[in-house]
Amino acid sequence: MLGLGLMGSALAESLIRAGHHVTVWNRTPAKADPLVAAGATRAATPAQAVEASPLVIVCLLDYPSVLETLKDVPLEGHVIANLTTGRPAEARETAAWVAERGGEYLDGGIMAVPQMIAGPGALILYSGSRPAFERHEQAFGAMAAPRYTGDDPGLAPLLDLAMLTGMYGQIMGFLEAAALVRSAKYPLTEFTTELLVPWLNAMAAQQPRWAEKIESGDHRTEVSNLEVNRAGMENLVRAFHEQGVNPDLLLPIKTVLDRRVARGLGHEGLSGLVEEL
Ligand code: NDP
Repeated sequence: MLGLGLMGSALAESLIRAGHHVTVWNRTPAKADPLVAAGATRAATPAQAVEASPLVIVCLLDYPSVLETLKDVPLEGHVIANLTTGRPAEARETAAWVAERGGEYLDGGIMAVPQMIAGPGALILYSGSRPAFERHEQAFGAMAAPRYTGDDPGLAPLLDLAMLTGMYGQIMGFLEAAALVRSAKYPLTEFTTELLVPWLNAMAAQQPRWAEKIESGDHRTEVSNLEVNRAGMENLVRAFHEQGVNPDLLLPIKTVLDRRVARGLGHEGLSGLVEEL
């Protein structure tokens, strides 16, 4: 295990608890102390840590720190499972870099905070070498539910970013709603618990159907077309101004809606907006 920050330490601890022999390395050596006390072996250098095991899990700050840490380390015969957060392009470059040095590469996206590791709801997405994933799936399972997503090493970080995108959309929608509700001095906790959350859950349940529409390329709708939504959004933005609330997070949505309708596609459903992105 290379990297014993908050996340790396949680991952290493879960592996030790599951009965694996874990060798740990961290740039600042003192962070290894609690893990060594729990049964891990301390490595003095990254090369020593890599040499200790066919599976090398890396969880550092960013990709430059991964390349810096592994730059002089022989990788032949080792699987590098890099769980550092990064971009798809960085993952592909790192996969090629590891392959040049004789190693096998898996990239990973951790969908959990350190406290969730080895607990319910923790998920780690993997992409890259399928044989490497299958060989080490059991060890991965000790850290979080493992999910292999495909050969392209960039897929796990891409899906990680897509999940974050969905999350930001939901949180930003909540914040705009909260600002509007607060402007009327209505109790926000009551609004959130009793009205908004059940509504968002019902809306989220529709998303698989939207995904099917996008995959089929058929954006026709009998319910709420873009023209109706364009008028609705205009109404919404106007109401925000009248309440003295800034609609900044809604305006980009209005821009995309207006553009699609201006193309003469107002009869489509909201799923059609994906074609503008
Ligand atoms: P921390 O800041 O706690 O740890 C960062 C780690 O990177 C430390 O081990 C640090 O070493 C090391 N490091 C930084 N720069 C270098 C370098 N140049 N050379 C060698 N080592 C270096 O971060 P986390 O553990 O929380 O995060 C690690 C990764 O996990 C990140 O990519 C993060 O995005 C990802 N992640 C974290 C989540 C979280 O909730 N914490 C959730 C999902 C993903 P040192 O101790 O010497 O400073």
